[in-house]
Amino acid sequence: MSQLPKPLFAIRTRAFTITILVLTSLFASAQNTFIIKDVTVIPMNSEKSIPGQAVVIKDGKITEITGVGKLKPLKEATVINGKGKYLVPGLFDMHAHFFQEQGDHKNTCENELKVMLANGLTTVRILAGHPSYLEARAKVRQGIWKGPELFIASPQFAGRWPWPTDFKNFEVADTKEKAVEAVKKYKQEGYDEIKITFMIKREVYDAIVQTAKEEAIRVVGHVGPEVKLPAALAAGQQIEHMDEFIDMLLPDTSYNHGQSVSDMNIWRRNAWATVPYLDESKIPSLVRSVKDAGVYVTPTNFFFFSSFGHGMTDEEYKQRPDYAYIPANIREERWGIKDRYWKNAPPPESRDKYVYLRKKMTYELWKAGVPLMAGSDSPEWFLVTGFSIHDELETFVKAGLTPFAALQTATIHPARHLGIDKRTGTIEAGKEADLLLLDKNPLEEIRNTRSISGVLASGKWYDKKALEKMLEEAKPEK
Ligand SMILES: [Zn+2]
Repeated sequence: MSQLPKPLFAIRTRAFTITILVLTSLFASAQNTFIIKDVTVIPMNSEKSIPGQAVVIKDGKITEITGVGKLKPLKEATVINGKGKYLVPGLFDMHAHFFQEQGDHKNTCENELKVMLANGLTTVRILAGHPSYLEARAKVRQGIWKGPELFIASPQFAGRWPWPTDFKNFEVADTKEKAVEAVKKYKQEGYDEIKITFMIKREVYDAIVQTAKEEAIRVVGHVGPEVKLPAALAAGQQIEHMDEFIDMLLPDTSYNHGQSVSDMNIWRRNAWATVPYLDESKIPSLVRSVKDAGVYVTPTNFFFFSSFGHGMTDEEYKQRPDYAYIPANIREERWGIKDRYWKNAPPPESRDKYVYLRKKMTYELWKAGVPLMAGSDSPEWFLVTGFSIHDELETFVKAGLTPFAALQTATIHPARHLGIDKRTGTIEAGKEADLLLLDKNPLEEIRNTRSISGVLASGKWYDKKALEKMLEEAKPEK
């Protein structure tokens, strides 16, 4: 196919598209109208749940939400029984990756997208871009692949790349000139955001921020010790992992600023030696500075707690549903990484304090009104995108957020950050029908986001059986 002259290929594609359009419009009326009947709606535009509702969906949009008794009869609609169930907006994971970045770089995006959708994710942000991920986004948009709506950040900007690899989901930005060119290029290529990672010099960072502003593309990601939190906040960068927050808790007189347990330093035992000196009383001023900057924060706490904080036993990892979806060679790589850290793990008191401080910061950020977003940072270690979003939501509640506030981090907050809150992120007439039907009430117990009864996305309804089938298809070959 690659030998075909371009125009001919274009004609063929068009003919194919037209055929598909004709076919789909023939079946449109019956298959594209749904009524979810007698359901409790948790719209997420305010803290309420409304029982006894009928939600009408046509061509992927919510056209009406009304009391069951008031609903006019609709011909040719698929009726979904919502009795005793709860309808919430489809969930967002704001920090995800694909397995292609690991192992032998096999493209398994199609299967991974199924796992995401089957777990109730209807929007996912991929945080280290690659051309094949742009292709995945296009395939989902065209309905060729099943999956959530994708936002793809640029290949990650780094001051240098210490690992040998042919898979280029990074951009070495070691001079201002290179960085400026790269920001323009990635904007042109259709990436949604510019992703910052590690070892970026301050002057290069400033050039990225300035160019991104001119190009109207958001800057998101890590904060390194070369940049430090105040500069990232001044730049309005959206911050992942609460990077450098812990560093701000070091006493002013400390010699170790820039070297606490943040970013890549989490691997260094010397960094952990600073933990006993971290001062909780500095949290309020830290939180104020984040609030004043008006930035969104994605803590990705569950990944940090389970990997570096309290940890998990091998048995616990193997019993997670995620485990079956990790390709065998990557599992092996992961056991090696896990052992490397835990063989010489930091003292338990330091790890406890680390977990405690991250929870406390998360809670205080929420209290102060900083918009938090749910991100799993999966796949990492033994966490797989889709399953792990539910752990992250639980971790928010363990930090002291209400279940409603936790749900905001995976619905309306990310929708606002991405600038798509006018069309999704809550359940309202006129909005897209990105919906998750649950057997149990998530406002009573956040773990209930796992009680998935069905998902509606891109105008298609997937009942429990369809979701289970998708999960089965997505399992990697042995
Ligand atoms: Zn990440």
